[in-house]
Amino acid sequence: MKVIVLGSGIIGTASAWFLNKSGHDVTVIDRQPGAAQETSFANGCQISVSHAEPWANPAAPMKVLKWLGKEDAPLLYRFRPEWLQWRWAINFLRECTPSRTAYNIRQIVAICEYSRQTLQALRAETGLDYDHLTRGILHFYTDKKEFEESLPAAKLMCDLGCQRDSISADEVVRIEPALASIRDKIVGGDFTASDESATSTSSPPGWPKKPKKPASSSSSIRRSRA
Ligand SMILES: Cc1cc2nc3c(=O)[nH]c(=O)nc-3n(C[C@H](O)[C@H](O)[C@H](O)COP(=O)(O)OP(=O)(O)OC[C@H]3O[C@@H](n4cnc5c(N)ncnc54)[C@H](O)[C@@H]3O)c2cc1C
Repeated sequence: MKVIVLGSGIIGTASAWFLNKSGHDVTVIDRQPGAAQETSFANGCQISVSHAEPWANPAAPMKVLKWLGKEDAPLLYRFRPEWLQWRWAINFLRECTPSRTAYNIRQIVAICEYSRQTLQALRAETGLDYDHLTRGILHFYTDKKEFEESLPAAKLMCDLGCQRDSISADEVVRIEPALASIRDKIVGGDFTASDESATSTSSPPGWPKKPKKPASSSSSIRRSRA
């Protein structure tokens, strides 16, 4: 079958690859001059299966209310007289109940686990090199309350089969000695050994180099926000 894939981000290129492997004649079309120049370029570059908590969770509505009007808020809602936006907001709120959140976390972990395995298999098959690291992801906390609030989520991830260890400040510094100079500020952390990271601006061979303004930078270490 002849197939046209619209968009050459991670989803479009991966879909095209697997369609082609199944014997289809695939053409990928993009409005940009090269592949992966929009969202898939320079994102956080974390393959973070063990942090699968969705944005829609019981704590989200209060947080969104507090963030209203703050342009640098992690989740910014701008009121508009548009039905589609309000419908989205109502659907988002519906997903914030404890039972929907628990259901969604299970689904996300399952799809993330599958996705990571597929990525690893694709890497082995194609030799794709994007400066990836398989050293896990370390989060550290400087706020005791935030650290304590992270513990139930970490336990839930472990119950679902993820490797997410809540660790002491000393353990954080043992894993990443570069943090020794701020040891006294660190109250704890979590380490997800099977998660992966990469360099956000690396391009696979033959792909275009970075656009002038990357969307974000990445780091395999980041301070977590609750
Ligand atoms: C700041 C940030 C950090 C992130 N960090 C992470 C992370 O650490 N780990 C992670 O797993 N995910 C992360 N994500 C999410 C991840 O980047 C996206 O889920 C993923 O890149 C989406 O891929 P996509 O192929 O669906 O979309 P895109 O990469 O945006 O691809 C869509 C393509 O379609 C093309 N297109 C759109 N409209 C048209 C049109 N009309 N005609 C022709 N072409 C068109 C675009 O040019 C683009 O190339 C992050 C996202 C952001 C914004």
